Amino acid sequence: GRASAKLLFVCSLSGGSLIAYADSPSDRDESSFMQNQKETQKKKVVVLGTGWAGTSFLKDLDISSYDVQVVSPRNYFAFTPLLPSVTCGTVEARSIVEPVRNIIKKRNGEIKFWEAECLKIDPANKKVFCRSNIDENLAGNNEFSLKYDYLVIAIGAQVNTFNTPGVLEHCHFLKEVEDAQRIRRTVIDCFEKAVLPELTEEERRINLHFVIVGGGPTGVEFAAELYDFVHEDLVKIYPSVKDLVSISVIQSGDHILNTFDERISTFAEQKFQRDGIEVLTGHRVLSVSDRMINMKTKSTGQNISIPHGMVVWSTGVGTRPVVKDFMEQIGQGNRRILAVDEWLRVKGYEDVYALGDCATVDQKKIMEDISAIFEAADKDNSGTLTIEEFKDVIEDIIIRYPQVELYLKNKQLFDVTDLLKDAEGNDREEVDIEGFKLALSHVDKQMKSLPATAQVAAQQGAYLARCFNMREKRKSNPEGPRKFRSGGRHEFRPFRYRHLGQFAPLGGEQAAAELPGDWVSMGQSTQWLWYSVYASKQVSWRTRLLVIGDWSRRFVFGRDSSRI
Ligand code: FAD
Repeated sequence: GRASAKLLFVCSLSGGSLIAYADSPSDRDESSFMQNQKETQKKKVVVLGTGWAGTSFLKDLDISSYDVQVVSPRNYFAFTPLLPSVTCGTVEARSIVEPVRNIIKKRNGEIKFWEAECLKIDPANKKVFCRSNIDENLAGNNEFSLKYDYLVIAIGAQVNTFNTPGVLEHCHFLKEVEDAQRIRRTVIDCFEKAVLPELTEEERRINLHFVIVGGGPTGVEFAAELYDFVHEDLVKIYPSVKDLVSISVIQSGDHILNTFDERISTFAEQKFQRDGIEVLTGHRVLSVSDRMINMKTKSTGQNISIPHGMVVWSTGVGTRPVVKDFMEQIGQGNRRILAVDEWLRVKGYEDVYALGDCATVDQKKIMEDISAIFEAADKDNSGTLTIEEFKDVIEDIIIRYPQVELYLKNKQLFDVTDLLKDAEGNDREEVDIEGFKLALSHVDKQMKSLPATAQVAAQQGAYLARCFNMREKRKSNPEGPRKFRSGGRHEFRPFRYRHLGQFAPLGGEQAAAELPGDWVSMGQSTQWLWYSVYASKQVSWRTRLLVIGDWSRRFVFGRDSSRI
């Protein structure tokens, strides 16, 4: 709500443009000279991507200080949390997208947008090479390059198939708006195929077996949407096959929704069991063909094959080729995902920033930094800190590395004194640094990077925009507002993630939510909370009204099952 109010405010401000009139030709010359000089002095910022991270950066950036160019093969922003709803027509595709040009025209200044894909980043020459995805431009050449002073890489991630044979050819993905539209058409196709004459019952059953690989939030939400679509709408129009439909979720871990609180994952499993959605945990998919999905049962080591009508692959994300190539150029070729420091800068290339799903904060560096912070705090080299000193150190660490806080909270060991007692097994007034470092080395193994979510990406975009906006001010105060005891000083506070909770819609007007403060809520009222949060988070009033309209239409008329 506040963000939209802010947007409206920016909008009304930009409605009347400011025009400066000069009194005489010389005044005019001088003013245009000054203007030109200011323009040429502006640093060039190139932003790659118009997803959650890129758009949130653009929305908050003070563009009067920069010459901003945006490159993305997609000229719109997509509200991905509602993509599963698009797969079944609960919400229409156009209701969850906002043209990027609409978003940038609301800014008080000019942002150039190029609908193109970045093919290569050349950090040595500070250039990016791009190709327009519209066949050819007027010059007969659809490739171009852009120079940058600062580069913001926000190109997200791609589907990860783990090189499983047949997945690319025979599975659907749920990453882009087009994917959701394709799934919607295929679901209807499966029903149309199943009711064709001269099919055996077994053939009809196979056509109506929907398999979802991946029991994370996206896979589970899609399974729930599909169940509702089938049972609320499709069974009424395809009554002859209504008892032949089945939905299976294949998960390699022991539980679905395993990044959520245990209570939520149990609630989801019980709900799916009641609904007749089969959950196959502990199964790893080996290959997929047009008719069969082959997998290994982890507990017995046996291979099994099941026939399917359609498979949706939703098992995590991988690095895009352009980022992989960039990582090889900068010596990160052996990493799985591009590493940045806690100011979101790519190590060794301080004018290149990476945020959102395409990057992660380097964990190895975190542990080295944590050790350095302890050593610097231990001024008398006694190997111990008082409880008070220790708490101070922890506070510093948490400001730099919010993941540590998340870990401590998850393990219900947030009270650092308890943590110490736990690590050392005694009640002393002083804390043994080595003992605590040992405890932290366990944290290191389990401490996951920040999750690849819209929430993280949007907060990183807003954080980076604030840093860019304050850059000029910081020049006169290079040590910044906060200094750290070790690891050097930096003009900005490091990025700090604020976890606002997460939702898991489970179908049948039931949802589960994990909210800050270890608060878990499940059931119908949570579904209404979900409706209100997702309506309020829409990027514009236009999409907000469209989404609410779609939800109301579905309540009154049901979902549309035309195959268009
Ligand atoms: P994206 O939003 O993917 O944006 C990447 C941008 O880069 C796009 O504009 C793309 O077109 C552009 N791009 C791609 N390649 C290039 C290139 N070569 N050159 C230039 N531009 C390029 N998160 C939540 O927090 N809550 C949810 O409920 C939730 N639900 C989800 C449901 C689904 C179905 C999916 C797929 C994701 C969901 N997520 C959710 C995760 C969330 O969408 C991502 O974490 C988020 O989109 C990451 O933002 P990003 O800006 O890094 O990448």
